[in-house]
Amino acid sequence: MTDGEARPLDDPALPSPPTFATVGADLIAAVRAAGPKRVVLQVPAGLVRDAHELAARLREETGAPVDVAARACFGACDTPSRDEAPRADLAIVLGHSPIPNVRTVRPTFFVEMRSAQGDVRGMAETVARAAVPKRLGLVVSVQHRDLVEPLSSELAARGYEVLVGRGDRRLAFAAQALGCNYTGAEAVRERAEAFLFVGTGRFHPVGLAFAVDRPVWSIDPARGVLEPPIDRGALVRRRQLVVATARDARRWGIIVSTFTGQHRLPTALALQERARARGREAEILLTDRLDPRDLVGRSLDAYVSTSCPRIALDDGESYPRPVLTPPEFLMALGELPLEPYRFDTFH
Ligand code: SF4
Repeated sequence: MTDGEARPLDDPALPSPPTFATVGADLIAAVRAAGPKRVVLQVPAGLVRDAHELAARLREETGAPVDVAARACFGACDTPSRDEAPRADLAIVLGHSPIPNVRTVRPTFFVEMRSAQGDVRGMAETVARAAVPKRLGLVVSVQHRDLVEPLSSELAARGYEVLVGRGDRRLAFAAQALGCNYTGAEAVRERAEAFLFVGTGRFHPVGLAFAVDRPVWSIDPARGVLEPPIDRGALVRRRQLVVATARDARRWGIIVSTFTGQHRLPTALALQERARARGREAEILLTDRLDPRDLVGRSLDAYVSTSCPRIALDDGESYPRPVLTPPEFLMALGELPLEPYRFDTFH
């Protein structure tokens, strides 16, 4: 077990894992050169439909046996464990960049599934027409990282000062977002009047809105549709309400994930100490992928999750009792003020 939090960020023992833009000739050549006895292929939810075709292609073109990891995965923080794929000596992880300061349990190839598709001129015109503020921080999901340069140029040609931040060692490239880490955006927050997220869905715009106190617009490159800013005030008020409901909880469960890149035992132990110092009971609960059913029927009043912060923020309502992030837990104990709201960032 490794601890993503305790490990020094400049750990020289963590070389960059091989990274590929798509499933192409360079990946096939690298797999052949590695000569694995068995490969485990991990795909995120959005690519499940293509998983078996991709596995067949890899088998055919590399000659290696390829198994597909069926567990839902959400990030490069939960690559297949030894128990999930005991015979695999190579993992191929689709749809994610490596997390530079997280160790993998076996050699792992990351395939970012990048797409340069998107009418950047049209996107820049849409942004300018909507009068999005001119000092604009740019944040992208990994699939759209190739749009950063051309879109920045198009926006600059329309009078924009585009701010692209490089985050800490949990992020692989400038402008990147992880649902638990927006330190690239935070690096340029002071100068930015607003942020533009380039990608699909609300997951990153919501996380970004929690992390930076600025309007967050988003644009989907495939459709060219610009979404208006997320209502940060409403997000924060909803979380403050959850904190208020948990304030009188006496018996707490402190959730610790066993996934390599989500494991924060030192944080959990520090929180347990804080809870006890405030006269609360607090028990460590170990889990890999947390399911709401895991918390049903327990004699605990509330939970704090030291694993993926988006469990509390996005899925908290699916759980039978309040689930808080570590900063929210300290708010519930009265050790942190409710304002300014603090996003739970993994470093
Ligand atoms: S901890 Fe959560 S948000 Fe961060 S990379 Fe993992 S799944 Fe994504």
